[in-house]
Amino acid sequence: MAAIHELSTVLADQIAAGEVIERPASVVKELVENAIDAGSHEIDILVAEAGLKSIEVIDDGDGIAADQLELAFHRHATSKITDRKDLFKVHSLGFRGEALPSIASIADVEMVTSTGGEGQVIHIAGGKVISQKPAEARRGTDITVKDLFYNVPARLKYLKSLNTELSKIVDIINRLALGHPQIQISLTHNNRELMRTAGRGDLRQVIGSIYGMNKAGKMLAIDSADADFKVSGYVSLPELTRASRNYMTILLNGRYIKNYQLTKAIIAGYGSKLMVGRYPVAVVNLEMDPLLVDVNVHPTKQEVRISKEPQLSEIISTAIQEQLSQQNLIPDGLTNL
Ligand code: ADP
Ligand code: MG
Repeated sequence: MAAIHELSTVLADQIAAGEVIERPASVVKELVENAIDAGSHEIDILVAEAGLKSIEVIDDGDGIAADQLELAFHRHATSKITDRKDLFKVHSLGFRGEALPSIASIADVEMVTSTGGEGQVIHIAGGKVISQKPAEARRGTDITVKDLFYNVPARLKYLKSLNTELSKIVDIINRLALGHPQIQISLTHNNRELMRTAGRGDLRQVIGSIYGMNKAGKMLAIDSADADFKVSGYVSLPELTRASRNYMTILLNGRYIKNYQLTKAIIAGYGSKLMVGRYPVAVVNLEMDPLLVDVNVHPTKQEVRISKEPQLSEIISTAIQEQLSQQNLIPDGLTNL
């Protein structure tokens, strides 16, 4: 057996990348989450060939200071948490400091950024800084990722068709947009704009941009709270259903999460109003003290652990049930307003 030695930083980053960056949509998710965390009002995502050729995310957020730019690409380097107690009250989408180094270790990355004054551009490929110099830039960040997985052939082989990869990108952007109606978000693929939200803070409008205005008109607002949880959002009338569970989006403090029990709670709210195999369209926003959530379960943070989950399930089901039963009292024809 060979002697024990520490892995090089580049190799360690590539191994970590295997967990965080599964496919082009993972890159999009991480970059857009960074843009959201930077307090952006407008985020434009430009993708070529389902992200395999390039992924560019342009934001008007805080930007990164020139003297911190290289550090942002170091593993476990983050501006979002400092000590252990911060871990229990995470308000940002990111905090692990893994995305940028992971992406830069398996792709060619150029980031132009400015905090307001003179900008800076860094070019990193395969985990190595190729250049860094001053650049003209407006406040915000413009990051371009090319040649994804060029040095991880196994990953490239595992990817699905371009259409499937693109649909995964569209899906993640839709969920992020639903969680952030106050941010104007657009997605352009091969120079064709696929989606754009207005950024006016109106969730029903975002639902309309994504699922179509006629469907947005068939959604009911829900709003409920107890001492621990606040539940709000929109759920479809029983007449608007889908054959898949994918049209239910759960957002916990602005983070899109996957949670079987809470999804079941949404469905339970409909009681017998849904036909077998049919599922509602729903966007359910959950707000709670970050102390009640452990987001540090999985590197992608889509799985979380919630304290008092049964209590939360109950509030969700009841909020939906009550809203739907009131609906029955309104004469037909008034429901599409
Ligand atoms: P994390 O998001 O977990 O902190 P990342 O590797 O994604 O880790 O990013 C590292 C750091 O780089 C962030 O903490 C943030 O300070 C900075 N950063 C990344 N993207 C942006 C952006 N679009 N705008 C401003 N700062 C950014
Ligand atoms: Mg991040």
